[in-house]
Amino acid sequence: MRRGGRACGVGYILPFVQASFHQGLVNPVKRERSKPSSTDQVTVVECPKCQAPQEVVPVTVLRPGAEALQALFKGALNRVTCGACGTGFVLAVPILYRDDAARFMVYFISTADPAERAEGERQMERVTKQIFSQESGLQPPTCRLVTDRSALIEKITLHERGFDDRIVEYVKYQLFSNPNRENRPDPVRHRLLFDFSADPDGPNLAFVIFDRESGRPTAGAHIPMEVYREVEEAFTTSLKMREELQALFPGTYVSVERLL
Ligand SMILES: [Zn+2]
Repeated sequence: MRRGGRACGVGYILPFVQASFHQGLVNPVKRERSKPSSTDQVTVVECPKCQAPQEVVPVTVLRPGAEALQALFKGALNRVTCGACGTGFVLAVPILYRDDAARFMVYFISTADPAERAEGERQMERVTKQIFSQESGLQPPTCRLVTDRSALIEKITLHERGFDDRIVEYVKYQLFSNPNRENRPDPVRHRLLFDFSADPDGPNLAFVIFDRESGRPTAGAHIPMEVYREVEEAFTTSLKMREELQALFPGTYVSVERLL
């Protein structure tokens, strides 16, 4: 399997986009042996601890309602336990979530390098634009790029629940920057993620505040759902505000990190 390194994540993007629209197949990992009934491929990786070879079938495409989505939410997707030494590890493969009916996609590549992320974003936009303007005449789908699994889960959940993730990221920015708010999160120390365990029909839009260093949840934050709806309406009813929202989040990497 391909490992980290600068070219790795970006290199996946192009075949990823082309494959998903031209052949309906996505095979970003080295093919060792095909499984006839599946588009996922058996591949061999080495245990990071004892180097024993392991046969695995990484999941690289997620669709609405797929069983693998539940595994993703539980943190079990592409998690392998070494048959020789029992060490658990996660396969570092990119993942594409595609809801074709809603024309919505999220690409996950694991990278902490902003330059790599930006290059991935540029490639993705170029290719998507090319495919959709030349061949189909359709409006391009909504595409999102995420660089960690928490963000992947968050984007999928927001999409499934009918939220506009740009508005949600804008609301996070307000929570980070409100000078009057007691216990307001600190953008350097904290990260806000949509709380998908909260009641979807509840009165609030809820977030979990995570400590960036430990990765642990430290507190919660929320705004009334009414306020979210007001912000959403303000941003979507006038052309000027729609442009403003577009200017805030110009690419496929839609995150409050862009504003902080
Ligand atoms: Zn091992």
